[in-house]
Amino acid sequence: MMFSLFTRRPAPVAPVDVPAATRRPECGETWSPAGVSVAQRYYNQAHAVVLVYTAYSPDRHYVACLGCPFTKVRDLSKDWTSLGLNDAAEIANAHAATCHALPRDLPAGPNDDAVREHLRKWVEVARNRVEEVEIWVEALDPARLTLQRTDDWIEAALRELAHDEPSLLLVRTSEGARPRFFARHCIPVS
Ligand SMILES: [Zn+2]
Repeated sequence: MMFSLFTRRPAPVAPVDVPAATRRPECGETWSPAGVSVAQRYYNQAHAVVLVYTAYSPDRHYVACLGCPFTKVRDLSKDWTSLGLNDAAEIANAHAATCHALPRDLPAGPNDDAVREHLRKWVEVARNRVEEVEIWVEALDPARLTLQRTDDWIEAALRELAHDEPSLLLVRTSEGARPRFFARHCIPVS
């Protein structure tokens, strides 16, 4: 009888043992902010992720460490050209092999007003006094991990800005092509 009761007792619940292989999204393993395509991920020496990503332009690759502030947007040894996938992967891998920074907090997405203000300042900075200047949305790519908006969202926000402040920004559209944006020249002070 005693033996029977003993065998019917529920088995004690073992503490959940989290295996080392369990995914850790907080360190960037699965992080994929809006508007960014992650091409590759590497672990640094402290399990922070080093990203290789693209944003507006699928041909331009960027490297960003989610442990330390390391980023790479151009290849200084090749006349500052943008990075192809192979070069970006090599840089990310080399950084991951030497970086010991712990995973830092992933940047929270800013609110819409903050992103619109960022875009407005970006246009302002591009202006000069004498002529309109084309501004390229891919120039925002290195900031896309913090902006966290899709290409369409950014283009729509720029269209809205051009509509609201035509003396600041001009948009030109043509059939079947992405819109082009031009920072208007400043009115010379008389
Ligand atoms: Zn690093």
